[in-house]
This record gives sequence, C-alpha cells and structure tokens, in this order.
Amino acid sequence: MTTIGGRDGILVDPVDVDVSVGLDAAEAAARLRATGPNTVAPPPRQPVTARILHQLTDPLVALLLAAAAVTAALGDYPDTAVIFLVVLVNTVIGVVQEVRADRAIAALDQLAAPTARVVREGRELVVPAADLVRGDLVRVEAGDVVPADLSVIEASRLHLDESALTGESVTVARTAGEEALAGTVVTIGRATGTVVRTGAASALGRISALVAGTRPTSTPLQRRLSALGRVLGLVAVALSGLVFVIGVVGGRPVVDMAITAVSLVVAAVPESLPAVVTLALALGARRMAAAHAIPRQLHAVETLGSVTVIASDKTGTLTEGRMAVQQAVTGDGTRFGVTGSGYAPTGTVHRDGEAVAVPDGLRQLARAGLLCNDAALSPPDDERPEWGAVGDPLEAALVAFAARCGLDPQATRTAWPRVADHPFDQAQRRMVTVHRSYDQRYLVVCKGAPESLLGAPLLDATEEEIAELTSTAHRLATEGLRVLAVAAALVETVPDPASPTGLRPMGLVAVGDPLREGALRVADSFDLAGVRLLLITGDHPATATAIGGRLGLWRAGDPLANGDDDQTPHPDTRIFARTQPEQKLDIIAGLQARGEVVAMTGDGVNDAPALRRADIGVAMGGGTEVARQAADLVLVDDDLSTVANAIGEGRRIYDNIRRFLRYALSGGVAEILVMLIGPLFGLPVPLLPAQILWINLLTHGVPGVALGAEPAEPGTLRRAPRSPQESVLGAGLGRDVLLTGALIAAVVLGAGVFAAYRDLPWQSVVFVVLGLAQLGVALAVRAPRPAGTRSGNPGLLVAVAVSALLQVGGVLLAPLRDLLGTEPLAPSVLLACAAVSVLPGLVLRLTRSSATDADRGDDGTNGPRPLAVRP
Ligand code: ADP
Ligand code: MG
Repeated sequence: MTTIGGRDGILVDPVDVDVSVGLDAAEAAARLRATGPNTVAPPPRQPVTARILHQLTDPLVALLLAAAAVTAALGDYPDTAVIFLVVLVNTVIGVVQEVRADRAIAALDQLAAPTARVVREGRELVVPAADLVRGDLVRVEAGDVVPADLSVIEASRLHLDESALTGESVTVARTAGEEALAGTVVTIGRATGTVVRTGAASALGRISALVAGTRPTSTPLQRRLSALGRVLGLVAVALSGLVFVIGVVGGRPVVDMAITAVSLVVAAVPESLPAVVTLALALGARRMAAAHAIPRQLHAVETLGSVTVIASDKTGTLTEGRMAVQQAVTGDGTRFGVTGSGYAPTGTVHRDGEAVAVPDGLRQLARAGLLCNDAALSPPDDERPEWGAVGDPLEAALVAFAARCGLDPQATRTAWPRVADHPFDQAQRRMVTVHRSYDQRYLVVCKGAPESLLGAPLLDATEEEIAELTSTAHRLATEGLRVLAVAAALVETVPDPASPTGLRPMGLVAVGDPLREGALRVADSFDLAGVRLLLITGDHPATATAIGGRLGLWRAGDPLANGDDDQTPHPDTRIFARTQPEQKLDIIAGLQARGEVVAMTGDGVNDAPALRRADIGVAMGGGTEVARQAADLVLVDDDLSTVANAIGEGRRIYDNIRRFLRYALSGGVAEILVMLIGPLFGLPVPLLPAQILWINLLTHGVPGVALGAEPAEPGTLRRAPRSPQESVLGAGLGRDVLLTGALIAAVVLGAGVFAAYRDLPWQSVVFVVLGLAQLGVALAVRAPRPAGTRSGNPGLLVAVAVSALLQVGGVLLAPLRDLLGTEPLAPSVLLACAAVSVLPGLVLRLTRSSATDADRGDDGTNGPRPLAVRP
C-alpha cells in the first residue's frame, strides 16, 4: 500500500499531499477544523420560538385564544386561566414531541451516514465521509458514491453514473487527470484520487443548495391523519354549533354558549394526534435502529407495518455469505473434494474420500482462480479469531482453495503480474484477467457462471467436452452449490479482456455457502406474519431451487422464473434465478400492480433502482454505499430476521395510532353527545367551558401520548398484514369509536340524571364521571399482555393515575373548584362516580373485538405454534 498504481509521471501535486502516503492525521484534523465537515449543509434547525409560533397558529389554538380574550373582557378570569392552561400544556406537549422526534431523526441520519476509504499516513482507513478534507487521498470502487470532488490520480476502468448531478442516467468513463464529482456513483472499476473540493463547495453541495428544502416532511399516514383531523374538526364545529343553537334557543346567554361551543370543539378534536403520530414513528424508528434495522426515513417505519411481500437476495442474506470451495472438477472430468475451515488457508484435497497429492491439472485450475481474482484473506487478529475474506467472499474462497492446493497466493500473484482485466459484472456473469508470464507470454484467465463460459464462443473445446462439463455443473448446482467454470490460455500478445477467444476449459469449482443459522426460522416467521418471502438470485436455477427447497419455499413442480428466458413469471413464483438487477424492477412492478406492498433487499451497485422502486428498499450494512443510500431501511447485521422484527415494529406503531384514535375520538364523541343530549334529560348545561377544557387537558394530553408507547400485541407477527387500501378508521374502528362514545355518554348521562333526581350537584357528577370514564377507556384499549407479564408501559399507568387524581381534585380542592366552577362531592358520591366510571372500559375489555384483535392467532403464550397455512 505504498505506491499507487506504481506509475511514474503523475506526481504533479495539486493540493500539497504526498500521493503515496496521503495526509497525516494532524494535518487532516487541522484542515477539517479550518474548512468544516464534508457535508452538504443540513437544513437549518428550527428555533424553539418558531416551533412555539407554529403551535400557536394552529386554528384550534387561535380559537382558544379568541375565547380567552372574550372571557377576559367579560371579567371571567377563571375561564381565561383554564384556557391559557390548556394552550400552555398543548404547546409544551407539541413542542417537546417535535423536538424529540427531530432528535430521533437526526440520530438516524447519523447512523446511516456515508463512509469513505482514505489513505492517511500510508494506511488505508474507513472514515465518515464528513471527515474528508482537501488533499485527502481517497479510494473508490464499484458501488461507492464518490464522497467529495476528486481529482483522479489513478483509475482502472473507472465508470461513473452522474445521474445524481445531471439527471441523465448515462455512464461516463473517467481516467487519471479528470475529476470524479461528489454524488456520482462508481458503476464499474476503481480509482484513487485526491480531494479537491468538499462539502458545500463540491458538485453535490452546489446542487443541494438549489434543491434544499424540497424534502417532504410528512409521511403518507401523517397526511391521511391530518386530512382526517380536518374532517373531524368540521364535524366538531358543526355539532358544537348545534349545542350553541340549542343553548341560545333555550335562553342561555349568547356569549356563554359561544365559549361553551368553542371549548367543545377543542375538546372533541384530538389535537395531540400529530404529536402522537410523529412521536410514535420517531420512537419506533429509534427502537428499530437499536435492533439493527436503521430506517432512513420516517415513512419507512409506517410502510413496514403493511408489507405483504419480501423479495430477498439469497447470497449473504439467507445464506451466510461465507463461502468455501467444496468440490473441484478438472478439465479431464476428475472430481476432487476440498476441506478446510472457513477462509483458513489450510485444508486438504481428497479424491473418493482419500487425501491425495494435488495433481497438476487441479493446481492449474486453482492458480487460474487465484489470479482471476481481486480478493484476499485476512489472518486472525485480536478482534476476530478466524481468517476472514477481504473483497468478494466467492473470490476469497478461491484464494483459500488455492492455498489448500499448496499455492502461495502472494508469491503466485507476484509471479504473474496482471496487465489487463475485465471485472465481473452481473450481466455477463464472468470476469477476465490477463497476466504476464515468466516467458514474456500472456496468461488469459476467465472465470464465471458455466453457461456464460461454456456456451460462449470464447472457448476452444469439443462439443463432448462442453456437454460433459455442462452436465457436471448442473449436477453440482442441484446440490445447492454455486458453480464457476474456469478457462485459460497462454498467448503471445495481450488480447482484449472484454472478449478473449481460444481459451481451454480448466475445470469447475463448486462453492458452498451454508444457510444462515436462523434462515429456516426467518422463512417461517415471514410465513406466520402473512408476508410472502421470495428468493431472488443471480445463481443457476438448480442452485436456487436447491436452496429454496431447504427453506421450504419451493417444491418440485412449483413455478420457477429464470431471468435468462424472458417469460412473464407465474404469479405464484417464489424463486427467481439468473436474475439481472434490472429485472428486479419488473418483478417489483408486477407485484405492486397486484396491490402488494413490496420490501426488496439489495446490496449491489445495480440494485439502487430496485431499492428505490420497492415500497421498502432494504440494504445490507455490508453492501455498497449506493445501495445503502437508495434504501429505506439499512440492516446493520445483514440478517433478514431483523426485517421481520421491523415489520412487527411497524405494525405495533400502526396499532397504537389506532388505539389512540379509538380512545381520543370516543372521548370526543362522548363529550358532544353529553352536551347535545343532556338538555333533553333535564340537565340544561351539562358542563361549563372550563370543565370541558379541564377534561380535555387530562384525557388527551399525556395519557394519549403515552398510548403511543404501548408494547406490541402478542400476535403482532402472527396475523396477516393489513390491507394497504384500508383507511385509518377502517376495519371497524369508526364503528367502535361511535359505540364506545355512546357508551360513555350513556353512563355519564345516567349518573347525571340520577344525581339530579337525588338533588346532588349533578354537574360535578357529570364532570367527574366523564373524565374518569375516558381514562378507564385508555386502560381498556391497551395492548393485551401475554399471560404473566407486567405492564410494559408504566408511563401510561402513571399518566392515567395522575390524570384521575387531578380529575377528582377538580371537585375536592377548593382552588380548583373556584377555577372550574364545580361543587364538592361527598366521599360516598365520589366512590359511586368512580364505580360507574369503570363500566365503559370494562364493557370494552370484555367485548374486545377491535380490528387489531380480530386476526390474532393465539394468546401469545409459549404453547405449540400453529402451523402456518397460507392461502
Ligand atoms: P447473486 O445475486 O446470487 O449474488 P451474482 O449475480 O453475484 O448472484 O452471481 C451470479 C453468478 O455469476 C454466480 O452464480 C456465479 O456463477 C457468477 N459469479 C459470481 N461472482 C463472480 C465473480 N466474482 N467472478 C466470476 N463469476 C462470478
Ligand atoms: Mg453476488
């Protein structure tokens, strides 16, 4: 790692840096301090005053402030005080939730921040891209997003997709002396360059300045809920208007009734809804991130809850991505077994079960695989006790294989210097390298998928030889192994590595990639959650179905898609073999056209469009930078079961939003019904404005927000996904809200009428029962706990307890009585109030039939799991 490309004549140094060792750490730190981080300026933080102003300009709050002005003008100071209290508490809750949500989002941005490979003090490091400074020596390769504007010093087949800057998706080649601009994507090749511009001065920074502020700030659910909020607001206004008219017609003062109506509107509209949703999403995002699934946008959190299909890569996602050559077949058809542990260079070669000396043909096959190769092995160290792969795991397996065949990887590569190459790409599925041999001839090596080699005109072999190798390759593939064919030739002059000819087949290597330990469980858990798991791979159909069979995704006779023949796949297809990255787009489009919500995994440079197109693009933390930046969700641990958990988290959040709606809206319905119907039962003004606002304050505020933190229901991952078309109030929630509201109102009015009949202070009874009954409903709509576990959401219990005390305090404490216009209640009456207040919640609990419960498979205890039977 001391020379770059080893060429002369490029040592023109534009930015004071030694191009072989890079900057030293102190210099880099000094430059970073001087120029600031290499980030495109983030949108300015909203100052608290702006947030407060935003809260205060909400129409509801404006209405309240108007009412406060009127009451103050009339000298009705207690009402003014209560109104101000409501506005204050609302604003505080709103601002606090916004700030918490913003913090959570900023933390996510931090977690998913891009990195860069830089050479400093002669050593290659991975640093946050934000830490790059002018003069840094940066390496990029296929799959990287260029982290800053680079002046290219050395490039090998460097191709850049500049569409992020130009909007046009054309790939351009760049060579030494040219610039690679920040934000462009390396599609092929690799390069080293010095940083010439960072941050806002870079090409990306200049563009971002133009498009700043266009990032959508609300999610689809938030937009749907605010639309719902507007409708609810209108309904509340209409009904409150009715209360106003009834009161005025009944002879009550107009101003009193106007203030009552305003209070009622405020009480009936769940004003904390946006705060609840934002906070639930943001905290959910944080929990996901803690569980190794980093959502890059808030909307991912809610979309995850409705995912119906997950299309997964095979390699590295369902399999370990830790490869090892298990079998090798030489050109003459002899089969060898290879053993060894992981990527360790030691192991044995055997034939028919017996260890054998490595014959010449096998050694040549291994050498070819070692040369046509960019990977290396890393020895064990303090952090990792095992040998590891550097670069493509498949190629690393070939390095280990060569070592097991007795070759010294380093010495062999030095003896055969590479003079030209054609990197692997998924369209051709092969790679070619050209090496200078000791006798000044050139060794051309090609390795790749058997069809791409054995079928192509690049081979010099008889039809029998080809047929023989093809059938052996097929047999190996049906064992679930990934098969590579290798061919080579010694020639006099350097050929075009893109299209070599006259190569002799050297043989086949079959590489095993064990299923991840939890892969079977993962496939099962998606099945239980009603999410169809599809397998998408570039591998041969025989390999793909062998693996699919082990995962229970495929049985003989099931449909199978082969990307090499362009037929529209059968709708039930779960295995897609020989898939090109572009074909992923068609697969997603087909699924989406049928109304599915699709999650798609990907990690390659070509996967970005599919990741963007999918409803949830899932990138592997270990994959390419482009994939990570195109994705909605980044899996830190590359483990698919993490997606299942994230889906559960998305469902939990959606359930909790519905829980909140059910609680808050039924309370609003009850308040309106009480005010509308009360007069018909001889309760002329059931509640005073201050009393309505007090109830609103105690019920909607903190207890409502606390509902968003309810734990997941036991069956969350054992029920079918909700229909993507379902409205937020769908699946019976609207009906439930009305019924629950009517129930509360009935209990409240019953208590009030009874109190009036017994000559008790009935208005205070109505006040206490209405408040307590709503809090009872808050407890009743909690998520059911698996038998034997404790609450899991102590915040809600505390909030309900404190609210209940304040509610009762409203009639017990003299200062509050003055403020609210209530009268004292005898302890026996209070006790009776508390007893009837329990009724609505109790009825709800006993008749649980909410949409979130409907599909629950079992009670969540650890009994035998039901068999997954999917239509
Ligand atoms: P996947 O999407 O399952 O990772 P790929 O597209 O990476 O599949 O690989 C498809 C096929 O291309 C493999 O089955 C293998 O035959 C061949 N192949 C994969 N990697 C390389 C490589 N580095 N060099 C040559 N051939 C390769
Ligand atoms: Mg691959």
